[in-house]
Amino acid sequence: MTGPAGPARLAERAGPVRRWRAELAWLPGLGVRPDVLIEATGDRVTAVTPGAAPGHAPGATRLPGLTLPGLANAHSHAFHRGLRGITQAGEGTFWTWRERMYELAARLEPASYLALARVVYAEMALAGITCVGEFHYLHHGLGGTPYADPNEMGKAVITAASEAGIRITLLDACYLSGGLAPDGTPVPLAGPQLRFGDGDGDAWAARAEALGADSRGMLGPLARAGAAIHSVRAVPPAQMHAVIAWAQRHGVPLHAHLSEQTAENLACQAAYRATPAEVLHEAGALGPRATVVHATHLAGRDTVLIGGSRAFACFCPTTEADLADGIGPARALASAGSRLTLGSDSQAVIDIFEEARRVELGERLASQRRGHFTAAELATAATADGHASLGWPDAGAIVPGALADLVTVALDSPRLAGAGPDTVLESVIFAATAADVRNVVVGGRDVVRDGRHQLIEDVPAALSAAIRAVLD
Ligand SMILES: [Zn+2]
Repeated sequence: MTGPAGPARLAERAGPVRRWRAELAWLPGLGVRPDVLIEATGDRVTAVTPGAAPGHAPGATRLPGLTLPGLANAHSHAFHRGLRGITQAGEGTFWTWRERMYELAARLEPASYLALARVVYAEMALAGITCVGEFHYLHHGLGGTPYADPNEMGKAVITAASEAGIRITLLDACYLSGGLAPDGTPVPLAGPQLRFGDGDGDAWAARAEALGADSRGMLGPLARAGAAIHSVRAVPPAQMHAVIAWAQRHGVPLHAHLSEQTAENLACQAAYRATPAEVLHEAGALGPRATVVHATHLAGRDTVLIGGSRAFACFCPTTEADLADGIGPARALASAGSRLTLGSDSQAVIDIFEEARRVELGERLASQRRGHFTAAELATAATADGHASLGWPDAGAIVPGALADLVTVALDSPRLAGAGPDTVLESVIFAATAADVRNVVVGGRDVVRDGRHQLIEDVPAALSAAIRAVLD
């Protein structure tokens, strides 16, 4: 039943009216413009007026600096934040890093997972991230025993994002095996991995269904459902179909780790006589709602299969550098038809500007040539395309009708002082850090104001406490 539809009732439903006056704002099709009046009702932008006269909206909130659409972190494992620094000590590989990650995974329970994820997402908010894609595989209790609510862990990260004030797409990951044996048989999950498993694809889908997404795929006011195939190592092709079918039925994003390591490619070739991209293609997992994460070591026709399907390619360059994965073919994938997105993945750092410039800088190092991506292309990966890959096509651009998610980067820091008016986007993409983010708005609501999180008092202290609680 709906209530009375009088003007007062409609205004209440639409939410408060807000106005911001951005010193500079990056607008689709227009580039960076000065004196931009941005108006919103509730969580939606209603008007955008570049070159607004000074007296036009005297009550508007001033946003000094460059205002961008909210940033999308398209690939996150929140709990990996607890490993920052620890895994930098000594030598090692991706595989030794993974052992440390498993030790931490074994310690998390719903309450400690919520406490940690909440402050990791607050760190993301302070870095200008207004939407996170949480690639979630820590499903069950120790030994793989389901909690009373089998989705308790997934609901914990949704609550965490809500309390930190940011959007989330819960990319619920199917994770069934611990790898592929040299003869291609799946290795059963063992030890800490037992928590990741649902048994088979159908059981995964039944649990994902019980999350209770509505007809638009929503799990809450700021939360959306999504699906993930952990990787070809963790999900045999015959089990992928249940995940793909569930994602298609709900019209939600489908993500998968792909070819992060050459060892994965070798095991996949031994098992299936195909590359990971060919396995996903054969299974029907690629397409415009799909995202392949990393895509570092592609071979043969992989680039054509991924780009031709219009799948997104998510690059996580700080993690890929940290884990000595390699440099993926970003330009080749983009030229083949993939839209690029960016992720903080292992949380080695949480800084989408750093991820964005490293896509271009990696290409430069690999090719010994400059100029593969423009600052605007990298900013699009960080905003509109990142959101689209997470199922939020109406976020990531400052236009009427879009979600009112804004990030303002101060230009008075030592890093950005002197930025020229014609190259300010280049200055921000190639020199800004997360510390330069001054104001963040999510759905018309202030989440960060003057560099301070508005919902969580002291984010560094809260991060320290949450990390100590799971490590000590
Ligand atoms: Zn990952």
